[in-house]
Parts: sequence; C-alpha cells; structure tokens
Amino acid sequence: STSATTTTTRQVKLDKESELRVEVGIETPLRLRLLTGNAEIFGTELPPEIWLCFPPRHKFAVFTWYGATIEMDGTTETDYTADETPMVSYVNVHAVLDGRRNRAKMSSTTDPNTSQGPRVIVVGPTDSGKSTLSAMLLSWAAKQGWKPTFVDLDIGQGFITIPGCIAATPIEMPIDPVEGIPLDMPLVYFFGHTTPSANADLYKVLVKELSRTLERQFAGNAESRAAGMVINTMGWIEGVGYELLLHAIDAFNANVILVLGQEKLCSMLKDVLKNKPNVDVVKLQKSGGVVSRNAKVRQKARSYRIREYFYGLTNDLSPHSNIANFSDLFIYKIGGGPQAPRSALPIGAEPAADPTRLVSVNINRDLLHLVLAVSFAKEPDQIISSNIAGFIYITDIDIQRKKVTYLAPSAGELPGKFLIVGSLTWLET
Ligand code: ADP
Repeated sequence: STSATTTTTRQVKLDKESELRVEVGIETPLRLRLLTGNAEIFGTELPPEIWLCFPPRHKFAVFTWYGATIEMDGTTETDYTADETPMVSYVNVHAVLDGRRNRAKMSSTTDPNTSQGPRVIVVGPTDSGKSTLSAMLLSWAAKQGWKPTFVDLDIGQGFITIPGCIAATPIEMPIDPVEGIPLDMPLVYFFGHTTPSANADLYKVLVKELSRTLERQFAGNAESRAAGMVINTMGWIEGVGYELLLHAIDAFNANVILVLGQEKLCSMLKDVLKNKPNVDVVKLQKSGGVVSRNAKVRQKARSYRIREYFYGLTNDLSPHSNIANFSDLFIYKIGGGPQAPRSALPIGAEPAADPTRLVSVNINRDLLHLVLAVSFAKEPDQIISSNIAGFIYITDIDIQRKKVTYLAPSAGELPGKFLIVGSLTWLET
C-alpha cells in the first residue's frame, strides 16, 4: 500500500524476512524508530526505541529477519512493505566471504596469497543497488569485528566523498544509516569529472594509483588484508565502461565479482575470466526496492553531496570564505593539450592529447563555481600520483584586483600548495 503525504505518527508491523521501503518527502525529514523485534537498514542494526531522523528525499529500507514493529513520524513520498527481497541470497554471499576471511586470518601471515581475504567487486547498471549491496556486505562484516576496506570507484555518485573522485576507507563499524561513512581520513584521488569518458585514460591511471597505495597498506597490515575489500563501481557497463570494469578487476586483483541484475554482463564476465580459476563470478538478483533516478535527480544528488561536504548533512558545519591573490594559487588541470609539438611528428600525423599531461591553468572567470581539489603533492610532477586533502569552491574572481574568493571547510592556510581543476561545478542553492 503506497501512502503519499501521510503526516501522522504510525506503526508498521513487519513479518519475518520482509522490509519497509521508504522515500522521505521532499520538504521535511522523517523520524523513525524500532519498537519491537530486530531490524536493520542496509546491514546496520537499528537501536531499540531510539528515534532516527532521515533527511528529505532519503531512500531506504528497514529489513527484519525475524519480525519487528516500526514507528514513523513525518511525511513520506512513498512507504510500503515488501516480502519479496533478495536479502537471503545477499547474506549467503556474506557467509561465504566470512569463511574466506577466517581462512585468511588463520593462514600464515607471511604468505601474501593465502593471508589475503576476499576482494569483492560489485558491478551492474546504474540503479541496480550496487552501493546498497556494498554497504550491506561491509556493515555485516564490520558487525563481526572485521575492518574491510571500502573502495568506491563511482565518480557519478560517490558514497565516500564528493562526486568526481575515487576513494577508499576502512570500515570499522556498521555504516550509519543516516550519516553514512565518517569522512575523517579517506584516501581520495581526484578525477574531476562525473563521467569517465571525459578522460578514460586518466581514470585508469588513478584507479591504478589507488590500488597500488592500498596494496602497500595491506602489505603491512595482516588484519585489513584478511578482511579484504568491497569495491563499488560505476553503472557504466557498455563500451569504454566495460573496458574500465575489466581494468578495475585486474588492478585490484578482485576474486569475487558480484553482478547485479544483468544476465548479459554476467555471461560476458564469466567468459573473459574463464581462465582465472580463482575468480568467482556470481549473479545476484536486483532488489525490487532500488529506486531509479533520472539524470536530473542524479545531478541533484551530486549537488547535495557537495553541499554536504561544505555545510554538513544538517547544516552543522560552517565553511569559511577565504580570499587569495592570483599569485598564491597554483592551479593545474590534467589532460588535454598536445603531447608533442606538431613539428616533432611525422608529416600528416595529428598530435594526440596526452591524457595525463599536467597543464598549468591561468586564473580567469572560467573558474567561477568550480570545485577544485587540494593536492598533497609537494611538487607539480607528483600531482597525478598524489591523493588529495580536500576541496575548495570558487565563489568569486576579481580580475581587476587579481583576487580569488573561495569556500573551504575551514579558515587558514590550505593543506597543500597545488590545486587540481576538472569540470566539476556546483551551484550553491
Ligand atoms: P546503484 O549504486 O546501483 O546506482 P543504489 O544502491 O545507490 O544503486 O540504489 C539506488 C537508490 O535506491 C538509493 O537511493 C538506495 O538507497 C535505494 N534503495 C536501494 N535498495 C532499496 C530498497 N530495498 N528499498 C528502498 N530503497 C532502496
């Protein structure tokens, strides 16, 4: 039963292995709590009786294994219960992964292969529930005391940080159903665009950098190596998107590939990976609860995510407006520009754009409303291989006075000297 714009407090009784699917209204938040029984939101258990407050537009499901009563207070776009879910198959995957983690932990930690826990990659089209399944597997693992690494390669709708980035972070506790992942110190690389076609080669280079950095970290940390990783990917699975998937599988040495809701992709992957006996390709059913988002909704979600970085989920952060001289900022873009001068090429050959060429950017009004990354690089030639400290947002450019006004999470000096710009924009609303 779908109920639009209901505002009263109401109770919902859930039978075992069923879920309450909710889309919070677009204007006001929704309060929800567990009254009886046990229930979880995407793998994270609800505390009994404590009200949780979900922001407008939030979409989620409260699932129960053994039955529960839920109370809601506020407006929803829709809320309904469903007793057909793929949760049993998802938790079965978790059980298999858990077994592999235990085996990795028991094995001699000096053997890099047997002491390596599962490296799971979740693939499928957009809106197949990839992020949600990744979150569930991570939260279930964290609940059992593992600290798996979450790798997010989705530059369109990032779970770990703002769009346009790839990132990784250890998950030490079940993911908070409202707050998401704490943003303290993720490992982030800035791609700068929300679609990989903007520079697919750069995307590959950054994926490789991230995987190398993680490999180094795993080498010195038996605990996180045994816990393994869960890798979330983009919904782009055709053409170059498919090529990038194969690249990611290879770069991270993924050995469990979970394919959501796409027969064709699954058989293609099984076929190309048939010579790798240690790689399992598993097809999983997509949940009927996954909400499809059109391009406009997706764009909005990106914008909220950037807003959240500067202002917090509930406007609880106060970013600082800073002013800098043109001469104090060193801004670079990656890619574009010819690789070699035409004179150096054979007659008739066109200079190819070098995807990872670093180009120094002159400050002008084109930078207005762009989101820039602050690199940890000490020298310009380290920019591509360096991860980033955070982001700034350009709010004004005064050509006459040669001053740039920008928003940063805090006042004071930037955590790095070099800035990277792509095509990531934001219109503060
Ligand atoms: P993908 O990562 O494949 O693009 P997501 O996992 O982000 O897809 O899911 C799309 C949206 O659907 C998200 O807002 C998510 O919270 C929501 N969603 C996923 N599963 C359910 C469910 N069972 N019930 C209600 N909403 C869901």
